[in-house]
Amino acid sequence: MNTKQSELLYSEACEHIVGGVNSPSRSFKGVGGGTPVFMEKGKGAYFYDVDGNRYIDFLGAYGPIITGHAHPHITHAITKAAENGTLYGTPTILENQFAKMLKNAIPSLEKVRFVNSGTEAVMTTIRVARAYTGRNKIVKFAGCYHGHSDLVLVAAGSGPATLGSPDSAGVTANIAEEVITVPFNDSNALAEVLKKWGDEIAAVLVEPIVGNFGIVDPAPGFLEKVNELTHDAGALVIYDEVITAFRFTYGGAQNLLGVTPDMTAMGKIIGGGLPIGAYGGRVDIMENVAPLGPAYQAGTMSGNPASISAGIACLEVLQQEGTYEKLEDLGSQLEQGLNKLMTNYNIPGTINRRCGALTLFFTTQKVTNYEDADKSDDRLFQQFFHKMLDRGINLAPSKYEAWFLTIAHTHQDINETLTAAEQTFKEMSES
Ligand code: PMP
Repeated sequence: MNTKQSELLYSEACEHIVGGVNSPSRSFKGVGGGTPVFMEKGKGAYFYDVDGNRYIDFLGAYGPIITGHAHPHITHAITKAAENGTLYGTPTILENQFAKMLKNAIPSLEKVRFVNSGTEAVMTTIRVARAYTGRNKIVKFAGCYHGHSDLVLVAAGSGPATLGSPDSAGVTANIAEEVITVPFNDSNALAEVLKKWGDEIAAVLVEPIVGNFGIVDPAPGFLEKVNELTHDAGALVIYDEVITAFRFTYGGAQNLLGVTPDMTAMGKIIGGGLPIGAYGGRVDIMENVAPLGPAYQAGTMSGNPASISAGIACLEVLQQEGTYEKLEDLGSQLEQGLNKLMTNYNIPGTINRRCGALTLFFTTQKVTNYEDADKSDDRLFQQFFHKMLDRGINLAPSKYEAWFLTIAHTHQDINETLTAAEQTFKEMSES
C-alpha cells in the first residue's frame, strides 16, 4: 500500500508536534514503530487516507464512534448547533434535555454534570468522593486506564495489595501513595486492602467491564462483592463508564449487569464524536459539588451546544430498534471467523468479546485480568497489526485495545476483514 503522503506529513508533524501525535496512543511505538496513517476522511465504517487508500475502521476513535463516521443525523445536529453559536457560557435548553436523556437511560445518575473529557469526569468523581467521605485514598484495578489526571496515573506496587508508585514522570510519590492498586476480578485482594486501609479509603474506582487492557468481563459476582466490601468500609463505588456507557446496551454496563454504583463517570460515545465527559450519581453525593457544595469543579467549554447536540443526536440514533442486536450479530460473526482462522493456521489466540467490542489476545490462556492480558505476544500482535493495516484494516496500534464495531459496518465488511485476516494468519504461520 502506498503511504508516501502519510510519511511526509508524519515527518512534518514530528517537527512541530511533540512525537508527531496529539495523544501517545496514536503513535506506532507499541507496534515496533512505523508511520501512523494520516486519515483525510471518515464515512460510515470506512476511512480514506491522504494517499487515497480506503480502510475498514475498527478503531472507532478509541470508542466514541458507534454510529459510523459522519452519521448524517449527528452531522446535521452539529451544523445546526454551530449556526446558533458555538459557545454561550450560559445554561441552555439542550443541557436539560441531554441530562434528562442520560438519567432516563442510567437510573443511578440522580444528578449529572457535563465536562469536556473522560479524564475530567473521572478526576472529579474522585474529588467529590473525597469531599463526601472526608477520606483521601482511592483503590483502582491494575491495568485500568482512567484518564491522565495525576491520581490515576499510578501503577501497582510490587505486591497485589501495596500502595502505588507513579506511572508518569511529574506525578509525585505523595500522590501515588493515595492510590492502592489491586488485580481486577480479585475480590480477596480488595477485601485485604479494605481491611488494612478501610477507614482511609474514599472510593473504589472500577470499569464495570474493562476496556483498557482489552475487553474483560467481571467474573460472576465480582461487582456485587465490590459494592458490598466498599460500602461496608464506608467508601463509595465509582464506575468508570467512559468506554462502556452506551457501548453494549442503551445505558451503562451497570444496566446490563444489574449493579449500581454511587457515582459514574462517562465520556466518548455520549459526545457523538465531539469532546465531552459527564459524571453523576446519588443526589446526596452530587450536592457536594459547587455551587451547592464545597467540591469545586468548573469548565468554560462544559455543556457547549455542539457537543451536547452531537450527544443527543448520537443517543437518538442508538435508540432505534435493533442497534445492539446488530452490533452483537456483527461482533459474533467477527469473533467466530477469527477463531476459525486462528485454529486453521495454528495461531495462538483468545478472543474476549462483548456485543460489538472485542479484543484478540495472542495467548491461548483465558484473560481475566491485566497480568493475563500482558501475556499476549508482542511480536505476533505487531506482525498482525502491520499486515492488517497494509490490507486496509485499521486497528488500534496496541495489543491492549479493543476492536470497536459500529452500526455502519456490514456483514460484507466483516467478510472482507476475515479475508485480510486469513492472508495475514497464513503469512504469520509461515514466518
Ligand atoms: N476512562 C476510561 C475507561 C478510558 O478508556 C479513557 C480514555 N481512553 C478515559 C477514562 C479518559 O478519557 P479522555 O481520553 O476522554 O480524557
